[in-house]
Amino acid sequence: MDTVDCIIAGAGVIGLAVARELSRLGMETVIIEAADSIGTETSSRNSEVIHAGIYYPIGSLKAKLCIEGRAKLYAYTNERNIPHKRCGKLIVATLPEQVVTLAGIIDKAKACGVDDLVMLSAAEAIAMEPRLTCQAAVLSPSTGIVDSHALMLSLLGEAEEGGAYLSLNTEIVSGRIDADRFVLHTRDHGTGSEYEIAARHFVNAAGLGANALASRLEGLDPKFVPQLRLARGNYFSVTGKPAFSRLIYPVPEPGGLGVHLTLDLNGGMRFGPDVEWIEEKDYSVNPRRADHFYGEIRKYWPDLADGSLSPTYSGIRPKLSAPGEAAADFVIDGPETHGIKNLVNLFGLESPGLTSSLAIAELVAQRLAPTYV
Ligand SMILES: Cc1cc2nc3c(=O)[nH]c(=O)nc-3n(C[C@H](O)[C@H](O)[C@H](O)COP(=O)(O)OP(=O)(O)OC[C@H]3O[C@@H](n4cnc5c(N)ncnc54)[C@H](O)[C@@H]3O)c2cc1C
Repeated sequence: MDTVDCIIAGAGVIGLAVARELSRLGMETVIIEAADSIGTETSSRNSEVIHAGIYYPIGSLKAKLCIEGRAKLYAYTNERNIPHKRCGKLIVATLPEQVVTLAGIIDKAKACGVDDLVMLSAAEAIAMEPRLTCQAAVLSPSTGIVDSHALMLSLLGEAEEGGAYLSLNTEIVSGRIDADRFVLHTRDHGTGSEYEIAARHFVNAAGLGANALASRLEGLDPKFVPQLRLARGNYFSVTGKPAFSRLIYPVPEPGGLGVHLTLDLNGGMRFGPDVEWIEEKDYSVNPRRADHFYGEIRKYWPDLADGSLSPTYSGIRPKLSAPGEAAADFVIDGPETHGIKNLVNLFGLESPGLTSSLAIAELVAQRLAPTYV
């Protein structure tokens, strides 16, 4: 049986960022991906927003890694010519009683290290975005958008230059800890054949599959595998000339950031994601959810025409909290938590995981192999 230095489960943005980081540190990595290409799950079903780090609890991994990751991502996208735009965003209060919430958002963001937010009067915000209706707004100048596929291709390219190998169509079904190595049982989705591969280090970056995979890792105490809950976020798009040049967000709602407007790099407008708790992985978008979108969007864009929203796609948040509970933090568990040397499990990597990806990769490298870093 082959034994490699490190196996990474999952070729989403996190697995690829980790592969790049470990390759840079001289580790031989094999990325094992169940799908037939990279980034087909959450990493390509999101808003592609480079978040500033505004909403997360003080001291949380989400706050820390988002702010660090944002700086690293802008530097990386500039250096590697990855399409992105620091377009900025407005968080808008549409009711008088929400204005105080905006002030709270600014204070909390400042405490987390985001100190460039600007409170705008309604007139100032409307001068920037003439189609907008609001009572007041907060401008976040460092929010942006990125081409997530170009980012993933770049990460993969660098990882491969550093000696990483990508195995597609291959699912890691289960594993066991055998002395000082991980023996992983895999299934080839093309041929149906099964084989074992061993590694001295193992990173479980399987996204929506990470909890199930960890629970099938013999030797890992189940108490270190949190329960996964699924919250689908549906998107609807509007064709035609963009009405806005910045991202427009309402004040946050429980479980998500509210039905917001994001722009793609061509200026195309899409709205979402909403929050729909589901039992099974299913990416279909119910067109009837548009009814709710019209009402929410017209609070800040009253000109939205009837019949203009088309269902586009959805993504599924790998939640670690139940409906109504406070949002859980990222879980990035290394030996300091579960006691197993050379193993890192990543759970609950919902937003802002894309923004944080390069910072997460550094943290994984530290937890995995402090001697390398
Ligand atoms: C609706 C929505 C909107 C979002 N918007 C933003 C945003 O604007 N900005 C931001 O910063 N973040 C955003 N995020 C979060 C961001 O998209 C995720 O944090 C990030 O994509 C997670 O990447 P990942 O690599 O962990 O997961 P994934 O991209 O899901 O990758 C995991 C991979 O593992 C593979 N896999 C699973 N099980 C196995 C197995 N057993 N064996 C082998 N392979 C396996 C899967 O096929 C998959 O390719 C959003 C998320 C959602 C759901």
